[in-house]
Amino acid sequence: MDFARLWLIGERARKRIRLTPEERKFVGEIVPAELSPLPSLPYPAKVRHPAGFSLSGAPVRTLTRSTLVLCAFRALGPKYDAESGFYHRIAADLALGIMRANFHQGEPKGTFCCAQCTLIILPVLEAGALRWFDGRALADDVRRLVEKKQWRFSGTTNRPLQNWALGQG
Ligand SMILES: [Zn+2]
Repeated sequence: MDFARLWLIGERARKRIRLTPEERKFVGEIVPAELSPLPSLPYPAKVRHPAGFSLSGAPVRTLTRSTLVLCAFRALGPKYDAESGFYHRIAADLALGIMRANFHQGEPKGTFCCAQCTLIILPVLEAGALRWFDGRALADDVRRLVEKKQWRFSGTTNRPLQNWALGQG
């Protein structure tokens, strides 16, 4: 699995740059063919985030899933999760994480397990790529938390990640 290519396409998807036919093929056919037979996604141990810093551990899982969903949304269209069981599972998994944080753990709407992961999924919310939510509204809620330094954003934050998530990078 060419994760470096996935991050590159993910950046284009995030910036709403039209994907090329080759990129659409990579997202629509190659990625599911390589990954869907596996019982769980083969997360890299450590990645160089497109914004230029390295990530390891749980946030890599969040970045991988977020990037896949965002790429599928741009490559296959808003009904990507009806067309692809592979992407449906990943999108539902992300959505469940967001719901769990809010309903079970009482965290603010739109947040994920930690500050880093919340920033990582922000572009997915902003794109409206999870059909179960009003992503725009949730994204606005998260942006307010970041701007007012509330919740887990009260302490030191990963600046490059924050700028990337807010589209200021
Ligand atoms: Zn996290």
